[in-house]
This record gives sequence, structure tokens and C-alpha cells, in this order.
Amino acid sequence: MTALVPAAESVLLDALPTGLFIGGGWVAAARGATFPVCDPATGLVLAEVADAGVSDALAALDAADAASAGWAGTSPRERSVMLRAVFELLHERADQVALLMTLEMGKPLAEARGEVGYGGEFLRWFSEEAVRISGRYGGNPEGTGRMVVSQRPVGPCYLITPWNFPLAMATRKIAPALAAGCTVVIKPADLTPLTTLFLAGLFEEAGLPPGVLNVITTRQAPAVSEALIADRRLRKVSFTGSTRVGKILMRQAADNVLRTSMELGGNAPFLVFEDADLPKAVEGALQAKFRNIGQACTAANRFIVHRSVADEFTARLAERVAGLRIGRGTDPEVEVGPLINDEAARKVDELVQDAVARGAQILTGGARAEGGGAFYLPTVLRGVPLDCAILSEEIFGPVVTVVEFDDEDAAVRLANDTEYGLVGYVFTESLARGTRMIDRLETGMMGLNVGVVSNAAAPFGGVKQSGIGREGGVEGIEEYLASKYTLIPG
Ligand code: NAD
Repeated sequence: MTALVPAAESVLLDALPTGLFIGGGWVAAARGATFPVCDPATGLVLAEVADAGVSDALAALDAADAASAGWAGTSPRERSVMLRAVFELLHERADQVALLMTLEMGKPLAEARGEVGYGGEFLRWFSEEAVRISGRYGGNPEGTGRMVVSQRPVGPCYLITPWNFPLAMATRKIAPALAAGCTVVIKPADLTPLTTLFLAGLFEEAGLPPGVLNVITTRQAPAVSEALIADRRLRKVSFTGSTRVGKILMRQAADNVLRTSMELGGNAPFLVFEDADLPKAVEGALQAKFRNIGQACTAANRFIVHRSVADEFTARLAERVAGLRIGRGTDPEVEVGPLINDEAARKVDELVQDAVARGAQILTGGARAEGGGAFYLPTVLRGVPLDCAILSEEIFGPVVTVVEFDDEDAAVRLANDTEYGLVGYVFTESLARGTRMIDRLETGMMGLNVGVVSNAAAPFGGVKQSGIGREGGVEGIEEYLASKYTLIPG
């Protein structure tokens, strides 16, 4: 990818829509309020976007509700063609979308470009799934009638996304919802709303009917969300974010018996057995830990390493980690960008300092980077005592923690000792052991000798407090469909 000069940044930002996208048009918030979106590498304001209040959110739901019957009545092929058109547009604008993500979120450009590929795949995958929505037909057991099961769109949906993957978290929800025939109101994170606004512009350009997709940017997420969830026209909430907020939304959704999909936090174990291919494990560790500057729900949080290979694994990993280049993500040489904000950097440092105070050794890093911005030095900690908060909380930063084990049962006990259950990574050259781990790890996903598992064609999601539901794969569209059974006598 060619390096984009700062001039490209201002051209991109000047052309960006900053209003609310409601009923097919761009509007200001009813009270005219706006809020700033900042570059985490510099702290500079990138744009001022509309700050929606409750009345704006309800106007967006009015639009989604009004468009619902019409969109549900379109042919699957029509919906498929629409999603495919946006997929093509997204790839035509890949450089711009990638730059926008780097500016508002901080990830290195190469990773942002990777997210355009990954996020775009949800548009393509669900454009292909839209035409495969099927049902069942059969005689009843009594032989007195025929049973027809068809699939109907659930209706207007409220989608809430986090800041860490500004494009992919939006397409992973919008694409299956629209493919199923649902209309949506989406609320991106207030730290990174620009990519979703850009994406809405692509849907507009592709000719999406008014009201099918509505975007509300807001700094008043609790009030706005509560009002939408309490409205009986809404039929579903799909949320990606922290387990804490997911629980609040589930309680609110209970009052209207709303369907919910919850993609929540993670605390991924990364197991390195004595029979692992260590160079492969180190490569996997770099991907599983440092992708997105460690700010991924799928980020490896706890490296659980067999005692006999712990010296070699940690030494090799620490050497690579010490060589990672940190800086503003727009520099093509940079491998590790800033954390999302100062508070995030402070929280990561607190976890590290607590672990060190309890006896963990720093092999590299272990402090905030000098020179401003929300940067944290890529860090490796070894000998982390089991009672440290860094092992039970999501680190959400570029910090490796290593603990050691002696046998497989102990490794499994350590891996499963968390309320989360999103993903686990296992490095072993033994097929039998790898297969056992698929059954023994309490997670919704597993990487066997690989550090990244996400794929639009696969069901992404967790067990335990990592969530309910799946996004992607053939399962992803089912979250937006309701079975309807009809009995035909005779
Ligand atoms: P967060 O829970 O603070 O915020 C997520 C979204 O919820 C944002 O849009 C935010 O504005 C909104 N929000 C916050 N409080 C709300 C409330 N009371 N009512 C309604 N909406 C509210 O999470 P975050 O810091 O943006 O993202 C990081 C978290 O997301 C991590 O826990 C990470 O593991 C998780 N995550 C999970 C997945 C997954 O697929 N499982 C993917 C990415 C991130």
C-alpha cells in the first residue's frame, strides 16, 4: 500500500459526513450538539460529529420501523446485490477507509488495511447467504398434515459496536441483518464513529432504500440505548463490547423480551506444550497478542507454557517483542500504535505495576512510552503470580504474561480458570493432544497452532460470560431470523 501523506488526511476528513444518518438523509442532532473525535496518537481533534439525544434515536427507530415491511418484502437477490455493491465500493475506497481507522483508532495502517479485507468479507459472505435462507417441509408424525417452517426477518434491530475494530464490528452486524431483511439503527462507539459514518455513505451511494440503515453517533449511550430498548417497535439488540455493559443491556432487554446477541469480553489462554514448534508458537504469540495493539477481545491474555520450554519460548518472544517498532500508525514502519486513550494506557500500567509488585519479572517494556500520546511499551512479564489482576482482567494492551505448568491437566485448569470463554490458542505438534484440547477448553473458538482465528465464514462467539450468539458463518444470519411454523392439514 502506498504511504498516504498528511494532505490525504485532511482531504478525507473534510469530505466525511458528520451528521446522523436517519431515513436516508444526513441531519444534525435535534439540539445541535456535537462532540469531538480525536487521534489517539496525537490527541488532536479529527472531526466534530453529531451528538444524538433520545429524540434523535427515536427518530432513527421511526425510520427503521417505517422501512421494515418494505425491506422485509424485497427479494433475497435484491438484498444480496445491495450488499455486494457496498463490498465493491468499500474495496475501491480501501485506502481511505484504512487511513480513517488508523486516524481515529490508532492501529498501524497495514492492520487497518487488513481490517478492510476482514470487515469487507462480511458484506460479501452475507450477500451470498441472503439467497440461501431456507426452511423445512415435511409430514407430521400423525400423518394428518404437512409442516412448513419458514424464516422471517426479526424486524428492526439496534446494533451497538465497540471502538477496537471500527469497520469489522459494524459490517459483522449490518451485513447479516440486512441480508435477513431486517432494518437497523447502529450506534458506533463514541471514540471511533467516523468509519461507520463513512460506511453509511457507501450504502447511501449504493442506493440503499431510506430507513433501512440508520446511524446515530452519541456520547449519551446509556440514555439513548435505554430509550430504544424500551420501545416496543424494536425487536432485537446486538451488542459487541464489555461484559459489564452487556449485562446491563440484557437486563433492559428482558422487559420487552427482546432477542439479544452478545459478543462480550475475553481472557484468552495461549497454551504452549512441550511438544510445540517453538518458532511457530512465537509467531502465533506475536499475532495473538500484538494485533490491534493488544486491544482485541480475542487477544491472548495469559501465556500458559510448559516449564521445560518456558526459558526458550519467553527468551525468543521477548527478543522479538523488544524489536517491535512503536509510533503513530500512519508511519508504514510502525508495528505497534497507541492505545485508544490515556486512560487505557494508565489502566494497562496499573495492571503491570501490580503484577511486578507481586513478584513478576519484566523481560522487556513494563512502562508507558516517553514523548506523549497513549503509547505503552511492548512488554513481556514472566513468573506472574496467579492471584494478579492482570491474569483475571482483560489487559487490552501490548503486554504478554507468562505462567508455567507441569502437566496437561494443570494447563487445562489454568486455561479454564476464568469467567470468560471466547477463544483459546493451543500450540502442540501432537494431533491427539490438539484434538483433546478442542473438547477440554471452555471456549467458543480455538486456534490450533495459529494465532488468529477470525473469518467471516466461521461462527465467531463465546461461551460463559463471553457472550451469547454467533456472528459470521452460516450461523450469523440466523441471529436475525425467526422460524415460523405453519400446519397445513391433509
Ligand atoms: P464498552 O462496553 O465500554 O462499549 C461498547 C459499546 O457500548 C460502545 O458503543 C459504548 O458507547 C456502548 N455503551 C457503553 N455503555 C453503555 C450503556 N450503558 N448502554 C448502552 N451502550 C453503552 O466496550 P469498549 O471499551 O468499547 O470495547 C472493548 C470491549 O469490547 C472489550 O471488553 C472487548 O473484549 C469487547 N469486544 C468483544 C468482541 C467480541 O466479539 N466478543 C469484539 C470486540 C470487542
